[in-house]
Amino acid sequence: MILFKTVSDYRAWHAEQRRAGRNIGFAPTMGALHEGHLELLHMAQRAGDVPVASIFVNPTQFNDPKDLEKYPRTPGRDMELLLSAGCEALFMPEVNEVYPPGQDLTLHLDFGQLDKVMEGAFRPGHFAGMATVVNRLINIIGPQRLYMGQKDFQQLTIVRDMLRQLQSPVELVMCPTVREPDGLAMSSRNMRLSPEMRQIAPVIYQILLEAKAAFQHRPAAQVQAHAMAALSAAGLKPEYFELAEGYTLQPVGQWSDAEFVVACTAAWAGEVRLIDNLVLKAPEDKT
Ligand code: AMP
Repeated sequence: MILFKTVSDYRAWHAEQRRAGRNIGFAPTMGALHEGHLELLHMAQRAGDVPVASIFVNPTQFNDPKDLEKYPRTPGRDMELLLSAGCEALFMPEVNEVYPPGQDLTLHLDFGQLDKVMEGAFRPGHFAGMATVVNRLINIIGPQRLYMGQKDFQQLTIVRDMLRQLQSPVELVMCPTVREPDGLAMSSRNMRLSPEMRQIAPVIYQILLEAKAAFQHRPAAQVQAHAMAALSAAGLKPEYFELAEGYTLQPVGQWSDAEFVVACTAAWAGEVRLIDNLVLKAPEDKT
C-alpha cells in the first residue's frame, strides 16, 4: 500500500494505474477504521477495482466544534488495517491539501428536501460540507466506482443526487451495514461509548427490527411513537425516529404508501451520538 499526502503525488500514481487499464474503487473515510470500512474495500476488490481509501476528518461537515475535536483518530492502526484489507493506495492529506488557501471549492447544489430532514434538521450545514468534500475527493482520486455504506443512508442518498446533478460518470455502490454480533452498527464513535452505554446501544437495532415487524399492520405515527418511547426507556436520548420513503426521504404514513421505506434514527448514548437505519420495505417486496 502506498501512502499519499499530496494531490500531485497521488495523481502521478493514478495516471500509471489508468494507463495499465485499471479501474479505481474509492472508499472515502474519516479514519478510526473498523470492519464496516474494510468491507467497502473488499467490495471494491471483488469488483476487480484497485481499492483506494482516503482518511480525512473533514472540518467543514462538523457543525459542532467539540464533536470535531473529540472525533477519534487512530492513524497507525488504520494503516495496518488497510494494508491487511488489500488497500493499494491511501490518501491521507492535511487540510490545506484538500482546501488550498485562497480557493473556494464549496459545492453549491440544491438538494431540495433531501438535506432538510433527519440529520439535515439536527446537524445544520453537515451535508453541504459532506457534499463539498466528497466532490473534492472524487476530483482528486478519479475513481470509476465510489463505495459508501448504507449505515449513513441519508448521506448515500444525497451523494447519489449530487452525482446525478453533476452528470458524473462515477458509479455509486452501496455497502450493507456491518454490525457487531449484538447488532450494534459498527461506527468510529462506538469506541467513545462508556461500558454502560455500550451495553445499552444494541437496543437501537432491536427497536429497528421491531419497527419493521410493526409497520406492516400499524400506521407510521404509532410505530414511530413506540420506537421513540422504547429508545428513551432503554436509557438513550433519541433525536428522531423517522419512517421515510427510501428515495425522497419524505415521511410515509402507512405500509401501502410507498414501495421503498426506510426507518432512520439518531440517539444519544451518553455523550455519543449514534445513527442507524433499517430498510423496512424494499422496492422488490410485494407483501
Ligand atoms: P466514516 O468514516 O464514518 O465517515 O465512514 C466512511 C464510510 O464508511 C461511509 O461510506 C460510511 O457509510 C461507511 N461505514 C461506516 N460505518 C459502516 C458500517 N457499520 N457498515 C458499512 N459501512 C459503514
